[in-house]
Amino acid sequence: MTLKQLAATKKITSFHPPQRTLMGPGPTEIHPRVLTTMSQPAIGYLDPVFVEMMEELKALLRYVYQTDNALTFPVSGPGSVGMEYCFVNMVAPGDKVIVCRNGVFGGRMLENVERCGGTAVVVDDEWGKPVDPQKVEDAFRAHPDAKILAFVHAETSTGAQSDAKALAHVAHKHGALVIVDAVTSLGGTPVLVDEWKIDAIYSASQKCLSCTPGLAPVSFSERVVERVKQRKDKIHSWFMDMNLLSSYWGATNRTYHHTAPTNSLFALHEALLLIKEEGLENCWARHRRHHLALKAGLEAMGLRFLVEEKYQLPQMNAVLCPAGVDEELVRKTLLNEFSIEIGAGLGPLKGKIWRFGLMGYSCRPDNVMLCLSALGSVLMDMGLAIKVGEAEAAAHQAYATLHAADALHARKKVANA
Ligand SMILES: *Cc1c(COP(=O)(O)O)cnc(C)c1O
Repeated sequence: MTLKQLAATKKITSFHPPQRTLMGPGPTEIHPRVLTTMSQPAIGYLDPVFVEMMEELKALLRYVYQTDNALTFPVSGPGSVGMEYCFVNMVAPGDKVIVCRNGVFGGRMLENVERCGGTAVVVDDEWGKPVDPQKVEDAFRAHPDAKILAFVHAETSTGAQSDAKALAHVAHKHGALVIVDAVTSLGGTPVLVDEWKIDAIYSASQKCLSCTPGLAPVSFSERVVERVKQRKDKIHSWFMDMNLLSSYWGATNRTYHHTAPTNSLFALHEALLLIKEEGLENCWARHRRHHLALKAGLEAMGLRFLVEEKYQLPQMNAVLCPAGVDEELVRKTLLNEFSIEIGAGLGPLKGKIWRFGLMGYSCRPDNVMLCLSALGSVLMDMGLAIKVGEAEAAAHQAYATLHAADALHARKKVANA
């Protein structure tokens, strides 16, 4: 809109977004408590009250990452900035990095290595498959001088989960550090930073943490902090230089680095507190429970998952669009008629899959049931042989089976106590 067009246009009014059911690859719905917290009055980012909140926020992040890493904090910026933060600090020009690519985000890691002046060795796996640890082992044998292994734990573009523990083990055996993308995994499926000995990890606020977009929680081991301190060259990004940013997020004597997004940080504090109150294990179990119900319903409609069962992410369900169905029209109808957002396929999977996210606050039984009912109705209108209520019945059965298993488990626990 040019100035002239703006002057000619009718009055601009306040923006009120519609109510949507967000079941795509992120952002997710935000818990009302988080929204309320966000709208609290502004305070300074060096206000002692704010500084105290930052300490709690770091402790809560350590809890969701299951780590004692001192340098654990949210970078100001989306998940992509968290990714870049790891590479810019850890990859010096000439460093050799093994990058695993089994979807969109592995490809972005590769971009980062190249832009940092590193030499990338790419380990490719088919989209929809996990990263193969044997291929990584072979890559290290062929390139014993590789200093870093980078991979995506939960590939949001395909819904496949890789074995982060096994991959970290291969890297360490060869004396390399690991960078892990946990953008979609954190909060939805176990991410055990200390137990798996992960050196550097990043995530984003708007996926399973269910917060407003724009913050990237990161965590670094002492080994990484030392390595970055020892770098002889100047880190290429002023904003992202770990040595400088530590002066704000570090433990003592905070000084100005950049203006922290205060209200977004209040929100993240609240979002993490909700996970702490629920209990991390219960949170993972919730993602699994609703995934199993959604999956039962989708399969009852005759839809097939892209990823083999044992590698399926609970929080990201990629299913193949049946032949003859207009993939895009289904998504548009879900949005326009039911106000439900789901994800499309990316890259080679464009037009071939739908991606149903069940992340954070969006991961609820009402969303599972609404989504199955709406999708069933849209597909039936398009002529697919689907019976009303069949998918919902299958989801209900899955919930009932899980419920019975839980009850049996609880009874056994009582009996053994
Ligand atoms: C969403 C996503 C990112 C990027 O996060 P943004 O907040 O969109 O920048 C990176 N990696 C994975 C696996 C993701 O799902």
